Amino acid sequence: MELKNLMEMVVSQSIDDIKKYYEFCNCPQCRLDISAIALNKISPRYVVSSKGDSYGRAELLAMQKDLDVLSVVLDSIKLVQKKPRH
Ligand SMILES: [Zn+2]
Repeated sequence: MELKNLMEMVVSQSIDDIKKYYEFCNCPQCRLDISAIALNKISPRYVVSSKGDSYGRAELLAMQKDLDVLSVVLDSIKLVQKKPRH
């Protein structure tokens, strides 16, 4: 069993979704910076999960909508783009 913050997956999914219509650097450094900034603004949702448990895209999308994750992630992308560390 392991402790998992579901928001990490939701934020990662959101970065992929935004990438489809918004141009930004998605290199590993920028991606991690964007994730860190976004995750610090969003309350974590910890779950105990057994290794290999997977969460469906529908479930993640529902959380993305409820918590307005997209706008937080978009703000984080804009912040990172101003001062990329790559
Ligand atoms: Zn980059």
